[in-house]
Amino acid sequence: PAEPELEALQHADVARLLPAPAAESDKYRRGVVGVAAGSARYPGAAVLAVSGALRGGAGAVRYVGPARDAVIARFPEALVSDRGPRRAGRVQAWVVGPGAGDDGRAVAEVLTADVPVLIDADGLRLADRGLVRARTAPTLLTPHAGEAAALLGVDREEVEGARLASARELAARYGATVLLKGSTTLVADAAGGAVRVNPTGTPWLATAGSGDVLSGLAGSLLAAGLPARDAGSVAAYLHGLAGRLAADGAPVSAHDVAEAIPGAWRDVV
Ligand code: AMP
Ligand code: MG
Repeated sequence: PAEPELEALQHADVARLLPAPAAESDKYRRGVVGVAAGSARYPGAAVLAVSGALRGGAGAVRYVGPARDAVIARFPEALVSDRGPRRAGRVQAWVVGPGAGDDGRAVAEVLTADVPVLIDADGLRLADRGLVRARTAPTLLTPHAGEAAALLGVDREEVEGARLASARELAARYGATVLLKGSTTLVADAAGGAVRVNPTGTPWLATAGSGDVLSGLAGSLLAAGLPARDAGSVAAYLHGLAGRLAADGAPVSAHDVAEAIPGAWRDVV
């Protein structure tokens, strides 16, 4: 029989993949996730990405960028640095792009790092495709349909009408894993194979900042050592469950979704 084109992640798979600290773990062994995000114009994206990262299982979150004051005011547990990503200290995976605006320097720096990198939002537009293709460590791109369309040079409707093919095409072009967000979130690897489809979620997640929480969460899972395909699909699964838990039939903010991640995690394990 032909290989299935789509596979839905099961509850049991997610439970098995979620990182759990060993008895002798320390914060460095659990993984340090770096977040290079936000700008003077969009400091909130940095705060939300950090909030997702803090709940994704890494041992520490390191923030670099112009929203340091906002991040530390909200999250005293975050490590903040006024240096660029390259000089920020130990990091096992980077999240770059949410709220970055037009400043591509952090994106260019993290792309040369020899650790997994998640690129979201403005970072997708700022990332040089050649630099992404040249990477040897894993890269995870997390566009919504509009961002995917811009990268592919097509209209948004074209992506919406062919989501599976679009995710695969983007993964092939960038030599990266692609998590295409939307009402059905897909995760495609550059090497091909079955595309993962996320079975959780709620349209209440269509709210500003929701994607920033997802990027931090997925970055944290990358730092904890999950392969890009698993980090992306497990993050989408938890994010969808957290959205349902937080919403429970009523509107939610991205902030509420981040705070519901631990409850979603407990429901899975
Ligand atoms: P962003 O557009 O970057 O803010 O990300 C939006 C987040 O909400 C992504 O995780 C999407 O998958 C999710 N989302 C958006 N619309 C829907 C929908 N109609 N149903 C389920 N999830 C959605
Ligand atoms: Mg977004």
